[in-house]
Amino acid sequence: MERTQIGDLRKHIGETVRIQGWLQTLRDQKKMQFLVVRDMSGLVQVVVEKAAMPDEAAVISGANVESVLTITGKVIDNPIVKLGGLEMQLESVRLDSKADAPLPLDPSAADLPAIDYRQDWRFLDLRRAENLLMFKVQTTVLMAMREFWVKDNFIEIQSPKLLGAPSESGAELFELPYFDRKAYLAQSPQFYKQMGMAAGFDGVFEIGPVFRADPSFTSRHMTEFTSVDMEMAYVESHEDVMAYQEKWLAYIIQRVKEAHGEEIKARFNADIEVPSLPFPRITMSEALAILKAEGYQVPPEKKGDIDPGGERVIGKYVKEKFNHDFVFLTDWPIAVRPFYHMRYADAPGITKSFDLLGKGLEITTGAQREHRYEMLAEQASEKGLNHEPIQFYLDFFKFGCPPHGGFGFGLSRFMMILLDIPNIRETVYLFRGPTRLNP
Ligand code: ATP
Repeated sequence: MERTQIGDLRKHIGETVRIQGWLQTLRDQKKMQFLVVRDMSGLVQVVVEKAAMPDEAAVISGANVESVLTITGKVIDNPIVKLGGLEMQLESVRLDSKADAPLPLDPSAADLPAIDYRQDWRFLDLRRAENLLMFKVQTTVLMAMREFWVKDNFIEIQSPKLLGAPSESGAELFELPYFDRKAYLAQSPQFYKQMGMAAGFDGVFEIGPVFRADPSFTSRHMTEFTSVDMEMAYVESHEDVMAYQEKWLAYIIQRVKEAHGEEIKARFNADIEVPSLPFPRITMSEALAILKAEGYQVPPEKKGDIDPGGERVIGKYVKEKFNHDFVFLTDWPIAVRPFYHMRYADAPGITKSFDLLGKGLEITTGAQREHRYEMLAEQASEKGLNHEPIQFYLDFFKFGCPPHGGFGFGLSRFMMILLDIPNIRETVYLFRGPTRLNP
């Protein structure tokens, strides 16, 4: 008999069906057993009359919670049952995998252990309904991103993660032995997505892992994370990239709302609101003035950058002033931007760049890139970069390369703001941090 999803049982009232899943709870009474069985699609109560089925009842008594069972039984409409107004009457049971007792982490317990402990037992933690929903939502997010790009004829690329030269600054770089020399783990696909522009692909995107040897412990950093990157040709300025990104993001959120809005409200108490377009834009000099007016002091070592506390203040300001969750912070000073960001011809200290904040959290950095070889080489020198290891990159711009721009977007940061989850570790399948390489 084929497996029936528990969520589909209502279509099978009166029939005998086969379900497979986890034993979530067992009430083992004198004459009766009441099981709650869970699969990805839902929960169902299964009832067993012990006297009528002593062998089956013995199998069930011996199965601890979170064991995996295959059950056949008749689906009965029963309005007084809380779980969907139906139940199953057991006909046969098979214990496929017995769970040890006690569980190190009970996915159905009301009290959750601390996050670090839950990371140790992540596969059990992931059995919780909130987590299942989160990854269903993330799947929709990824699908929607791709849909949007594919519709616009973007090309999906997979760039190498083993590099001979660092693509960004030397800081936060993982180095590893590579035969008789050194290799580096990619901190971003930056150089290679720009190569797509030089290769004649009008739009490229990549969704893949990147690595940052950041030793800090924050609620928003990981040493390995999924970066969502795009680059588009023939932009006139970073404004074209922002205009593209906001449409892309609104589309993604619209898809999430359609597919999961109600369930997200029920499980996370988060309202999925499709943001209005355009998103507010604030230049960095305006942002610093706003922070000053709000009495927020950015730590002096930031040198024109904003710290997380400042981002939150801006996020709150934008919510109050524009009733918007998103804001583009534009026109960053060259000191805090990489050499490949294009600068204004009439204001060479300012880059044609932006960050996108969502609910006061940075989720994106983007810019128009410098595509003119001479300018780019000069900017690299000015930042003190040795050309030799990046000459292969500079060469991309020597033989015809369209003006272009793009952005990098942190998938897990986005999940945090989408579902109002305060810690990035909750949003990722398996967290990697300075002290975590397992499981
Ligand atoms: P931050 O200032 O928060 O450290 P960043 O300026 O180093 O971020 P970028 O290099 O611009 O970040 O990376 C692009 C995007 O990737 C960020 O906007 C963010 O969404 C995400 N991101 C960056 N670093 C991390 C990290 N360590 N863990 C998870 N996501 C990250």
